[in-house]
Amino acid sequence: MPVPQSCPLCAAAADRQSAVVGRVYGDNNRGVFHCAVCDVRYLHPGLGAEEEAKLYAAEFESFMADRAAPGAGWEAPEKHISANETQRLRRMTHLEPLLRSSRRILEVGCSSGFMLYPLVASGHECIGIEPSGVFSDFVRSRGLRCFPTLETMIADGKAKERFDLILHYYVLEHIGDPVAFLRRQLALLRPGGRIVFEVPNVNDALTTVYEIPAYERFIWVVSHRWYFSEASLAHAIKAAGGRGEIRLDQRYDLSNHLVWARDGRPGGLGRFTAILGQEIEDQYRQALIEARRCDTLIGMVSN
Ligand SMILES: [Zn+2]
Repeated sequence: MPVPQSCPLCAAAADRQSAVVGRVYGDNNRGVFHCAVCDVRYLHPGLGAEEEAKLYAAEFESFMADRAAPGAGWEAPEKHISANETQRLRRMTHLEPLLRSSRRILEVGCSSGFMLYPLVASGHECIGIEPSGVFSDFVRSRGLRCFPTLETMIADGKAKERFDLILHYYVLEHIGDPVAFLRRQLALLRPGGRIVFEVPNVNDALTTVYEIPAYERFIWVVSHRWYFSEASLAHAIKAAGGRGEIRLDQRYDLSNHLVWARDGRPGGLGRFTAILGQEIEDQYRQALIEARRCDTLIGMVSN
């Protein structure tokens, strides 16, 4: 495997780059490297445009269905909506203070549109970006405007107005040039507007505390171009010309972590909560956030 010439995020020299894993899930010829300067971890060699397009259009759902646990909800859009209700409610706690008046909202990578339907119902104007044919057809069938890419939306005269809120959840880690991606969205914000997005935290307890081998094999995957920490995400936001804060959150519960430890696979969400009690789950979640070993980083970014 060739060694990177420089960090693809901060351009630090080759001698500051070190290998994390020699191969990733889905591709034996690519590995992950770490930059000691900006702290980002990244797929190397990166994907070419053609390989990327192939991965993100038709193949994406079947790829995700293969690796997700039964019931995770990639099989059908309707199932995807109900499977994500807990995540939607968690995300809304961060969005609600930004939704006090009627807003124009864009979600990049809206999948089944589960974030957007309740926002439309409460009076916000929503547009989705979704490259996957199955999902984008479904979103349009529910009456929302949905474009395959940001470029096609900008080319559409009726959609060129700017946004109060731009959302993307678990998208940035898949993007070839995350700095250009954020910069372009900053240009689409109205004055006072905000980009709110989530990425996985590379310092997740499953890897940095419990060191579960099966989880190690699961996270280093060809569809992830980047693995962000608080420091490397702050670097990307600043490089894009944005400012704001990074919040910490925990998506998965103690039950999920127990199943990872026992069976070496995902899918345990809520399984033991009836016995543990919600208070234990809440305390566990809070402890991981306070230890900065939680699974989710939330960017709240403005111009
Ligand atoms: Zn770097």
